[in-house]
Amino acid sequence: MAIATVNPATGQTLRTFEPYTAAAVEQRLARAEQTFAQYRLTDFARRGELMHRAAELLDADQETIARLMTTEMGKPLTAARAEAAKCAKAMRWYADRAPALLADEHPAPTDVTDAGASRALVRYRPLGVVLAVMPWNFPLWQVIRFAAPALMAGNVGLLKHASNVPQTALYLEDLFRGAGFPDGCFQTLLIPSATVSDVLRDPRVAAATLTGSEGAGRSVAAVAGDEVKKTVLELGGSDPFVVLPSANVAAAARTAVTARVQNNGQSCIAAKRFIVHEQVYEEFRAAFVQRMAALRIGDPLQESTEIGPLATAQGREDLGELVADALDLGARAECQVAVPAGLGEGWWYPPTVLSGITEQMRIHHEEAFGPVATLYRAESLDHAVELANDSPFGLSSNVWTTEPAEQERFVRDIQAGGIFFNGMTASHPALPFGGVRRSGYGRELSGHGIREFCNATTVWIA
Ligand code: NDP
Repeated sequence: MAIATVNPATGQTLRTFEPYTAAAVEQRLARAEQTFAQYRLTDFARRGELMHRAAELLDADQETIARLMTTEMGKPLTAARAEAAKCAKAMRWYADRAPALLADEHPAPTDVTDAGASRALVRYRPLGVVLAVMPWNFPLWQVIRFAAPALMAGNVGLLKHASNVPQTALYLEDLFRGAGFPDGCFQTLLIPSATVSDVLRDPRVAAATLTGSEGAGRSVAAVAGDEVKKTVLELGGSDPFVVLPSANVAAAARTAVTARVQNNGQSCIAAKRFIVHEQVYEEFRAAFVQRMAALRIGDPLQESTEIGPLATAQGREDLGELVADALDLGARAECQVAVPAGLGEGWWYPPTVLSGITEQMRIHHEEAFGPVATLYRAESLDHAVELANDSPFGLSSNVWTTEPAEQERFVRDIQAGGIFFNGMTASHPALPFGGVRRSGYGRELSGHGIREFCNATTVWIA
């Protein structure tokens, strides 16, 4: 894919960028290594000061960066503003909490003696240069979610962002530099995905994190495995949204729409499979379909727009194929809203609800990255659990029930990295984020996230 800003609402190429030469990449790698040697010696107070300053700059830039994100990948402007605000909040959260999250750990005195030491502790030290391979869907948030904890821990970052958000990628480098972080603390590499493995194999790179597709994750993890380098992978998801008889069905249907179509449906933690107990199936189906059909599709820069275009032509084609496959194999379109005439050449995709899904359909196993929901009828609690787990993914999950025993059943049995009751999945700096199975491994956010790229060093003194 060319490194370029192409407006998904019009299909127009607005800016193109030459990929960095090998010499330019080398210069940045050298700078990253040199910077780490000094930056790792800074204390939390200094890092926190810089991170707070970066958050202030981001708040001041909110409108500009929101418009840029919308122009590069099509998310509604209101969502882009909220994304920028959320990033600033996470930066402040880590600026304030890092000292406690990375404080030395002291084993119990009896364990210290038992280990033959007079004193023992665990110190969290930074790993070094971390390569972040990031996607376009939350072009600020995915990066900040890595960068805020990584920089607070004393690591330095190299960003290989998705090729369709180069201006957002460059903005991020400017943001950290503008806040006063030393040059080399956070650098963007405008490179194609084909050269990621060269950077990852470079001995100056200590570890990598990737958010994106399973294919991209697999190839980065394979190289990292070969080099014995730590990775965190946050890949796709096909999260279940389960509605049981005790649920407030009207509230569930309302939330279900938001959970499915947030970010034009292009979110790994969007609810994608709607599994509804037969006692409330019809009530939920009617309310959900009605709301999906009423969504306002349009120019993402307009304040009233609820759904903009998909980010890429390829994404629209892939989603179209997934839906066509399901319909060919007998799925029913409960709704497939017409895209309003006059929207022009953008990569629009109509909000769609499919029922009658079978195992033969690709959409049963694959991630639908756009505003397409699948509806399943569950005959019992056991059946709902079984359907919820019938996916290769395991990122998060949503369950609507007020019965404590049913909640406990899901907490025990759901194969996912998270479970949200009577609400929708959302990330928060204080809560670990990540998946199991094909959704990846490792955790971002919270104390778990900041410690992923640390060397938990055992200190033992006789
Ligand atoms: P990709 O996974 O291809 O892109 C994500 C990032 O990985 C980009 O920076 C991309 O660079 C890079 N990349 C791609 N292939 C490789 C590789 N072999 N080695 C190293 N880096 C690589 O996502 P797409 O944009 O192609 O979307 C495809 C599907 O991925 C979506 O339909 C969705 O299912 C899933 N996805 C999931 C996301 C999530 O949040 N979990 C986010 C985005 C996509 P470049 O842009 O230069 O190719």
